[in-house]
Amino acid sequence: MPDSHLPRKLLQLLKLHLPQMLATLRRFVTAESPSLEKAAADRCCAIIAEAWNKHGARVERIAQKHRGDLLRISHESRKTRPTGQLLVLGHYDTVYSTGALARMPFRVAGGKAYGPGTFDMKAGIVQALFALEALQQSEISLPKRLVFLWTSDEEIGSEAARKFFETEARRSDAVFVLEPSFGPRGLLKTARKGVGEAELTVHGRASHAGLAPQEGVNAIHELARQLARIERWNDLRRGVTINAGVIEGGTRTNVIPETARALLDLRALRVSDMRSLERRLHALRPFHRGARLEISGGFGRPPLERKMSATLFARAKSLANQMNLTLGECTAGGGSDGNFTAALGIPTLDGLGAVGDGAHSSREHILINAMPQRAALLAALLASL
Ligand SMILES: [Zn+2]
Repeated sequence: MPDSHLPRKLLQLLKLHLPQMLATLRRFVTAESPSLEKAAADRCCAIIAEAWNKHGARVERIAQKHRGDLLRISHESRKTRPTGQLLVLGHYDTVYSTGALARMPFRVAGGKAYGPGTFDMKAGIVQALFALEALQQSEISLPKRLVFLWTSDEEIGSEAARKFFETEARRSDAVFVLEPSFGPRGLLKTARKGVGEAELTVHGRASHAGLAPQEGVNAIHELARQLARIERWNDLRRGVTINAGVIEGGTRTNVIPETARALLDLRALRVSDMRSLERRLHALRPFHRGARLEISGGFGRPPLERKMSATLFARAKSLANQMNLTLGECTAGGGSDGNFTAALGIPTLDGLGAVGDGAHSSREHILINAMPQRAALLAALLASL
């Protein structure tokens, strides 16, 4: 039975470390780290590595060719042999190009810390760092090995990092994702929609709209009918959405258009809905004789179904109660790397990072006072599993 006073002890300890947490956040944020600028990202990676190095954990830098290097940090209790592994996952890349810092400098005002990547998700990395430090200082013997993995291409789809965190997730009993929480109350993200993109192209036959209309097959008319059909697949209550975000086609009004295409955003909360949406898309048949449809794409990130996080969330909630904090949950319409780890069948709890607002905008900030709380919650979770 774990010590029921532990969460509160961790919180007290971490509250004392708030000034250092904020100073560390400043160092991480003032090293800009756009996903697409390797040199800058690598400089930030080195600064994060240096901070973790001080804590006696094993820090490994995994070289990447086109993206910032990855950081893998592992920690085991010296007293006991680990009986498994827990993965703490996050990314240090941001959506801002270098130079953004000049327009939105790191600053502290009204209990908030502003700056590019504060909320999404450098404060999460800081919280994890101090969570580990608090666990070390409290000399708790941790049942499992802890692995922290900081990636560098989450904001552009995780193409390079995916195989590394999937390998690490497969070895783990649970994955904790330090993506931002939601709203001022810091709701955890216990479900995330799967996200995809598809392209529907219609091939018709061009002809003179006045002289030989009977010889043409109008690709735009065909596409319009297909989109009207597809629109009816939306089911907001089930969390299924399909959105035609871009269309193009045709050349001039007196020409029957030969091609037209639409780009579709696809989202679903359930794996079964994701599959059926993909199946229905690929089963589309033309209305007009002579038209041909070409369909490509599909879901890039599968849904994180709530059942993959339910047990971990219940644990987090009871640990938060022991700290006199209330913890809520929500469903996110967008994906994260947690979608991938949950799809492997590994229990995944997401949104454990900072409390704040304005991700991907010039208003991006975190609530400073929530940092020790969230760090304590993570530490308590890592010690309790
Ligand atoms: Zn993020």
